[in-house]
Parts: sequence; C-alpha cells; structure tokens
Amino acid sequence: MKHSEKTGLYVHIPFCLRKCAYCDFLSFPADADTHKNYVNALCKQIDATDDPRPVASVYIGGGTPSVIGPEWIDKILCKLKDRFDISGDAEITIEVNPGTVGPEHFKIYREAGINRLSIGLQSANEDELKLLGRIHTYADFLKTFHGARDAGFDNISVDLMTALPGQDASELMHSLSCVCDLYPEHVSAYSLILEEGTPFYERYADPGTDADILPDEETERQLYYLTRDYLADRGYVHYEISNFAKPGYESRHNSSYWTGQDYLGFGLGAASLNRGVRYRMTRDLAVYLADPDHREEITVLSERDAMSECMFLGLRMMRGVSERDFYDMFGTELTDIYGEEIDRLIAQGLLDKADGKLFLTEKGTDFGNYVFSRFV
Ligand code: SF4
Repeated sequence: MKHSEKTGLYVHIPFCLRKCAYCDFLSFPADADTHKNYVNALCKQIDATDDPRPVASVYIGGGTPSVIGPEWIDKILCKLKDRFDISGDAEITIEVNPGTVGPEHFKIYREAGINRLSIGLQSANEDELKLLGRIHTYADFLKTFHGARDAGFDNISVDLMTALPGQDASELMHSLSCVCDLYPEHVSAYSLILEEGTPFYERYADPGTDADILPDEETERQLYYLTRDYLADRGYVHYEISNFAKPGYESRHNSSYWTGQDYLGFGLGAASLNRGVRYRMTRDLAVYLADPDHREEITVLSERDAMSECMFLGLRMMRGVSERDFYDMFGTELTDIYGEEIDRLIAQGLLDKADGKLFLTEKGTDFGNYVFSRFV
C-alpha cells in the first residue's frame, strides 16, 4: 500500500463563547488562562512531532478558533512553520464565527499566512439563528464578511445549515440568496442532525413533542436538492455531497480527507492518519494539558481497511473514485476487490461508472450511508 507523499495539518481549538443548542462537537467555554495553557500544550505537542513530508494544507478548526486572542493563532502557526515544511502555496484556513472577530484578528491572521477563512453563518434568518442558539445576528455576519474582504481575504467559505426545525423552501432560499449575493468562493451546506445529549435532541427527538416541526426525510431531500440546484445556478460546482465551490476553490484540506491523504491532528480530540495508523488525541482537557501527546484509539489499518476507507470517503466526492488511482495506491484492480458489490449497486441505480470513475448517482446521494456501508 502506498502512503501519501504530502500531509495536512489540523489544529483543534475547542473553545466557544457558548454552546449552541444542536452542537455535540468537542467545544466549551473557557477563560483566558485556559486559552493560554492550552496553546502552550499545543506548542509542546507540535514540538514533539516530526514529519519530513511537505505540508500542503493547514486547517485551524474548532470550536471557535477566533475566540482565542489572534496572537495565540500567530504563535501556533509560527511553531508549525518551525517544525514542518509548509509549502509556499499551502492552503491555510481558520474557522471564525461572527461576533468573535474584528480588524485586528484579520490583520494578524493575514500576517501569519492564513489565506482562507471559513465563516459559520448557518442561516440568514434571525429566528433560525436564535433557535440554533447562535451568538450572532445576520448583521454581525455581514460585518465579519466585509471586514474579511477589506483585510484582503480572497478565499472565503460560508457554512449554512439546512433542514432546520420549521424550515421551508422560502426560508432556505432566503439564506442561499443572501450568501450568494456576497460571492463567497465556497459554500458548505449540511443538513441538521439531531445529536444525543444536546438540547435539540431533548426538544425534537421525542415524537409527540416538537418533533413534528422537524422536516421529514422527503422534505430534507427536497431542501438538499434545492440547495444543490440553486448553488449550481449561481456558479458553484457541487464537488462533495455537502460542499460547493467556485471553480478552483474546492477546499484542498477537506479534499485530502476524502482522498485518503495523511493528516496530523494537534489539540484536544484531534484525529490523525499517519502512514496507515489512525489515532486521536485525548478528549480530556486535564489529561491533554498534563500530557499533550496523549494518544488514544490507535488503530493500525490493514490494507483492506484502507481500501474500504478509500471507497466510502472517495465516493463522497462527486467526481467519484478513480480505478487508476485505486490501482496506483493498492496495486490491485478495484473490480477484483469490490466487483460484485459495485455491480449490485449499479443495478440498484445507486452508483454509476464513466471514464474509469465510479460515482454516486442522484439516487445514490439520497442513500449515501447505505452505499458507504456496503464497502465497510
Ligand atoms: S460555535 Fe460551532 S463548535 Fe461552538 S458550540 Fe456552536 S456549533 Fe458548536
């Protein structure tokens, strides 16, 4: 099995001003001392890591990375540059949330080499933002977006959420048109998923309470297709199930996950894939602060595991999985391993094949989880 010649770096900042009602990410509020101690621990973890391969992308995610002082972000990037061979043209992204960034942040981010922003809008409708428990208004988002443009950011992604409680096509269209009128280079649009343990789960998961105002499966699919078609009309290429980009602006970092490239994760709960070994850092803050290289869930992938990942991650990309790439990576024909399953999925209308590539059909995107499960 061939391993990646390049790698990506992910840095997790687990802090948020307040927890949103639907969120089960590893994130929580913390004070300035905790921010400082955390960045120091991150720097120790980075110092303890070695990898000679060129780095093609860096992604600082969370949580809300913009809630910590921008000087901490600069410190983290300096440390990464000291330790790794970050390519001159590397994509360096930071996630920011409206209401937590201003001109000073953008200035320091630019000087630190960050060249891509991912802004969490979620909705342009005030009532939906309130329902989600977001800290910002649409006006806050506009201020953030224009502030980023003024600071020189020419690669901006905007996150939207769809299939929100009570959402209909006109509300979603409003959010989509507001976003597209700003011409961001990239849009991510994920359907809401009820996660156990969140206030949203308590409120909506139990039939007979508010559950009937959650869009049903058919409405969720209609909102998905509305999103896809509207964004296509506005010039966005649908390149991954939930991601859309102006030509040439596909997220290189996220694409590297879907194409099975290696990445190293830094920070609380951050996952890594490194030369066939998958692991993640501890999710316990006290443990991380005491031992920033504390790894858990270490799994050595067999060749068959890696093939399976190549299929179910690669099929998330609309361009699909290339038979040639599969052969180059594993030295085996794709059809020799999965031929029967592929024939069955093609006969069911869930997969299609053209120009040596295997990809999801429209029906296949509706039943994506089922298709992916066939390769596990
Ligand atoms: S800002 Fe994002 S990470 Fe933070 S609580 Fe809200 S959804 Fe979760």
